Amino acid sequence: MGGNAILQRGQRGTTEEQLENIRGTAASIVTIIELGYRVVLTHGNGPQVGNILLQQEEARTIVPPSPLDVCGAQTQGQLGYLIQQSLDNELSHRGLRMPVVTVLTQVLVEAHDPAFRNPTKPIGPFYTEAKARRLMAQKGWAMREDSGRGWRRLVPSPKPLAIWEASIIRKLVEAGAVVISTAGGGIPVVRQADGRLQGVEAVIDKDLAAQILAHEVGADSLLILTDVQQVSLNYRLPDEVKLGRITVSQAKQYQKEGHFKAGSMGPKVEAAVRALEAGARCVIITALDQAVDALAGHTGTRVVPDDDA
Ligand code: ADP
Ligand code: MG
Repeated sequence: MGGNAILQRGQRGTTEEQLENIRGTAASIVTIIELGYRVVLTHGNGPQVGNILLQQEEARTIVPPSPLDVCGAQTQGQLGYLIQQSLDNELSHRGLRMPVVTVLTQVLVEAHDPAFRNPTKPIGPFYTEAKARRLMAQKGWAMREDSGRGWRRLVPSPKPLAIWEASIIRKLVEAGAVVISTAGGGIPVVRQADGRLQGVEAVIDKDLAAQILAHEVGADSLLILTDVQQVSLNYRLPDEVKLGRITVSQAKQYQKEGHFKAGSMGPKVEAAVRALEAGARCVIITALDQAVDALAGHTGTRVVPDDDA
């Protein structure tokens, strides 16, 4: 689930607003469960981690700030709690009984991932240029001016390799639980030479992490829920074409032709391609409130293996 499942564009981010959105999201998810699907959920955390970074910046002289992996863990707990409770309430409202559980999730990345040499993901508060130059010198942060709004920190976005908690997530799913995990793409960790895990200051793309999660739990479908009903060619151009059903080969071709923006639709289509190449039968990209209709084949963009063309 994309950011809009929890916070809509333009909202301030109060707990009431988030809970209201999450209740709507929970209703869609429970309808999917009622249809007989077993569901494993993952979701974004961009605005929430941004707010924690902002709080830390404001209170820096009073409370020592936490590194990014710790902030990510905070959002997994905070949002997991709200989603878990809303799902519990909605399930019992519809007379369904099943456990809902949030798993704090670490995702392995390669310490030598080239992304670490080229930070690309903007996070946290906006700074003046003078302040940004000081932070770059003091903390070694990479920073960049962000579309006239001020300077922002850039962190690496390494490729997710494996979900550390995968086997327990699988067991929970097999036991009939609805599992929420890998939020915000998971907490990025690297393996040190002695085998120990260590958190790193990076952000994993949540769509790519969702694909790894789907693979690790043996899901046959991956549903990528965002704020557009269908994926388009020539997006927002006069000759825009909405896609109903495409094969992996077509998806790759369109990706190469530059139809899907990096940082928004790009990673979703890439996740779809990887999922199908890893053996999934179907990936659907659609809007959150169209999930049920899309599963029934009435809307959304369905990416299928070439032999299903
Ligand atoms: P999420 O929080 O769900 O990851 P994103 O904003 O990252 O949301 O990605 C969804 C956005 O991708 C849509 O709102 C749309 O503006 C954008 N987008 C870019 N290219 C396309 C495309 N070819 N077809 C549809 N949407 C696209
Ligand atoms: Mg996105």
